[in-house]
Amino acid sequence: MLEAMKLFDGMEEVSLVTWNAMIAGHAQMMDLAEDGISAHHSGVEALNMFLRLHQSGLKPDVFTFSSILTVCSSLVALQQGEQVHSQTIKTGFLSDVVVGTALVNMYNKCGSIERASKAFVEMSTRTLITWTSMITGFAQHGCSQQALQLFEDMRLVGVRPNKITFVGVLSACSHAGMVDEALAYFEMMKNEYKIKPVMDHFACLIDMFVRLGRLDEAFEIIKKMDFEPNKFMWSTMVAGCRSHRNLELGFYAAEQLLKLNPKNSETYILLLNMYVSAGRWQDVSRVRKLMKDEKIGKLKDWSWISIKDKVYSFKPDFQFHLQCDEADQLLADLIEKAKNCGYESQGDLGVTDEQDETTFSTVHHSEKLAVTFGLLNTSNAVPIHVIKSISMCQDCHSFIKFVSILTAREIIIRDSKQLHKFVSGRCSCGDFGSLL
Ligand SMILES: [Zn+2]
Ligand SMILES: [Zn+2]
Repeated sequence: MLEAMKLFDGMEEVSLVTWNAMIAGHAQMMDLAEDGISAHHSGVEALNMFLRLHQSGLKPDVFTFSSILTVCSSLVALQQGEQVHSQTIKTGFLSDVVVGTALVNMYNKCGSIERASKAFVEMSTRTLITWTSMITGFAQHGCSQQALQLFEDMRLVGVRPNKITFVGVLSACSHAGMVDEALAYFEMMKNEYKIKPVMDHFACLIDMFVRLGRLDEAFEIIKKMDFEPNKFMWSTMVAGCRSHRNLELGFYAAEQLLKLNPKNSETYILLLNMYVSAGRWQDVSRVRKLMKDEKIGKLKDWSWISIKDKVYSFKPDFQFHLQCDEADQLLADLIEKAKNCGYESQGDLGVTDEQDETTFSTVHHSEKLAVTFGLLNTSNAVPIHVIKSISMCQDCHSFIKFVSILTAREIIIRDSKQLHKFVSGRCSCGDFGSLL
């Protein structure tokens, strides 16, 4: 990409095809990036390119719009996404089904289900991808009934669902704990549509049983299916076992997760946290030794928030670059108020973060800083959008729920695993999203 940039900057005349190649190139780099930081960097580069294209006077086309909207989705950059939306109107591309679908997708991924469904309703033609995107969006936002209703509408107009549509349908059932419906749709998929179930379908069923606390049934599916369970399944099991206090199965699942992910620092911290809370010190030192042997580094905890075209990034305990005192004060106040409302800080577990055995403090995780910064620098009318490089810890998850009550703000955090939309003390993930 660096070489491409050099060539590009040396060109005297640039055609739209070249602009598109550059934007798509950055978008692709974003997908291929190994960590959140470089992914974010590539995303910002793509947005810059799009801005430069606009300034050059050339008109974007379908390809430009669909790649830049994908970038906005991955960056959870709602404001930029809205600007792109208004450009699709100005340039007459809004009626294009590919652009429309990309818009629905962008709004869904940025946590704005209302705008996604408005864009969906306004589309004159829809493809299977459009339907599937909206069904999945409803499911991810915990709007199970709407997801299933839309699925029935889709069948009514004669659109044939594919395996991804069924992932959306099954996850809607899973969110709402609708076991009978889920199993019926699973059968419908196999028998009526002749779709062979894949990993993701089983993952939804496992997730459903886990959420209901029916851990044995979840475990049965893992044992019976034709696939080796993947890391998402094991992490679902871990989350479920922890919240339903089945420690033995939880440790087993976490160790399986570690086997699949031997280089992942998140998994080690998770396992350490679990052993520490159970007071199993022998296991604690065993895991610590493993971390040393495997040369497991620090967790790369970063969060970003974009406000008015600028992106601000935060590291844990990192001093605010702007309004330092004010933000520090606000965070301290919020923690205090949240505690008065029942928030129990898990910041003092004494879990180590790295070989040097420093305390893994949860007080200043990056999303707490980014959210505080967002509260200070955005108007009350807009939701706060934060993107985070690793998964949220339970402490921050619980804290942000309180913040959403205390400030009456909608807070959306996309972490490395999923989207969390906090409204009035509830999260759309149903509390099964935070692992650490
Ligand atoms: Zn945290
Ligand atoms: Zn959540």
